[in-house]
Amino acid sequence: MPRHYEHWINNADVKPSTGSYLKRFSPAHGEYLAEFPEGSVADVDQAATAARARFEDAETWAKLPGSVRSKLLTDWAALIERDIDVLAVMEAEEVGKPIESARGEISWSLELIRYAASQAWELGGDAYNNVGAGKLALMTREPRGVVGMILPWNYPMVTMMQKLPYALAAGCTTVIKSSELTSGTTFEVARLAAEAGIPAGVINVVTGLGSVVGDAMSRHPEIDMMSFTGSTAVGQVISKAAAETNKYVALELGGKSANIVFADADIDAALDGVLLGFTLNQGEECVAGSRLLVEESIADEFVSRLVKRANKVKVGLPLDAETQVGALIHEQHMNKVLEYIQAGIDAGAELRCGGKRVTENGLGSGFFVAPTIFSSVTPDMKIFQEEIFGPVLTVTTFRDQAEAIKLANDTVYGLGNGVWTKDIDKAILVSEKLRSGTVYVNTYFETTPQVPFGGYKASGIGRENGRSGLLEFTETKSTFISLGERVKALPNTVD
Ligand code: NAD
Repeated sequence: MPRHYEHWINNADVKPSTGSYLKRFSPAHGEYLAEFPEGSVADVDQAATAARARFEDAETWAKLPGSVRSKLLTDWAALIERDIDVLAVMEAEEVGKPIESARGEISWSLELIRYAASQAWELGGDAYNNVGAGKLALMTREPRGVVGMILPWNYPMVTMMQKLPYALAAGCTTVIKSSELTSGTTFEVARLAAEAGIPAGVINVVTGLGSVVGDAMSRHPEIDMMSFTGSTAVGQVISKAAAETNKYVALELGGKSANIVFADADIDAALDGVLLGFTLNQGEECVAGSRLLVEESIADEFVSRLVKRANKVKVGLPLDAETQVGALIHEQHMNKVLEYIQAGIDAGAELRCGGKRVTENGLGSGFFVAPTIFSSVTPDMKIFQEEIFGPVLTVTTFRDQAEAIKLANDTVYGLGNGVWTKDIDKAILVSEKLRSGTVYVNTYFETTPQVPFGGYKASGIGRENGRSGLLEFTETKSTFISLGERVKALPNTVD
């Protein structure tokens, strides 16, 4: 039986006004997994009204002591941890990712919640007693209000938890729309929040199509802020729609990150990092290291060894413990990835491995693509410039540091980059010149809740995680106080 869900509004199931549900079939073998409510403008209105009412009733949420919200968040994390096995299976099934990755994603989500919980204690402001005799100025922080969150399908839990616990720590209330393909864990953890004691109206989940539910959220007058993770194209649409009501907008968007491997790198470590960089989560990864820039003098040997390793990567069913690359999200997306591969061949890039759908060993009814490497790729090629969002790596060589930096920055995106060298001066000088929100030196995909994450250029606006991630969900208020010092009277106005 497929899992059946209703919208989650005011800590209760609410049937969609459309009466219809979107079906989710496994991208790995076609099994009917779940059905999610197909929301409407009216459903969004109901959720936004609930979130607004709870926010305005400040005594029950926004004005609770930070310590109380912190405890509720910590209790919530404990319940998610209790249910981690069930949640990991759902995440693996709906996304198509390997079960171990799904479990890792949920463990990582727990860290995010626990860190955000600690920050609920810390949220304060500043007092200025240096603005003149008899005067005091205060800077205080207040929750922004109702936050609309729109999420992608590649990391349903982590993309939500880089926002939600931080918004809750700040005292906001929320309306969430997860991807219509992967809403299962969103509903499950919203229920667990109620079980933990988080009041009704704080977390509301309305699912459905982006063009209907997401659009209505972006325009809704009772929603104060939009926090979006997804493609750059949709981020721009949301920004425009949100401008009608002057909402604050935070965007986590696409990427085309590079791994730069210098000849003096620890080659084995770089091979591991580059391979993981383009295969993790089937390459459906915003910060995937989808471009390899390798110093000319070591390129031939490095790429030959990389190809050997890529051919050993186990493509398989999500619930098989040995699987390293699972299924792509749906058939249309798989076809788009295969079209990019064809575009690479047509442009004259050299296909070194993969390049095709995988159907052997019981994978025939799923959407699997083999890890694919192209060498002789030049910056004018589409595969060098566009986000493919599949397990596809482009290889381009460089002669010196300046050329490596120029190639890495030759993209509209700016999410992440990796630098591999044993020369620390070189690592720092190159890092400084890379136009990306994150740089990894001799490693890749590092992340920790207290360090901000976000993009330059077309990869986003704002930062998630860390103190800056928390502050995104606050307004700053300046209060000037006279301690007996009077405003100078205007001449001839005293009665
Ligand atoms: P997407 O942009 O197609 O969809 C994201 C969400 O937006 C979905 O919930 C969708 O229903 C909704 N949406 C679609 N049209 C909308 C509209 N007109 N108005 C409002 N909402 C709308 O992205 P996706 O395919 O789900 O995810 C892949 C993309 O997400 C990639 O580009 C990836 O790089 C990006 N991503 C970025 C990060 C990051 O942190 N920077 C993390 C994960 C994914």
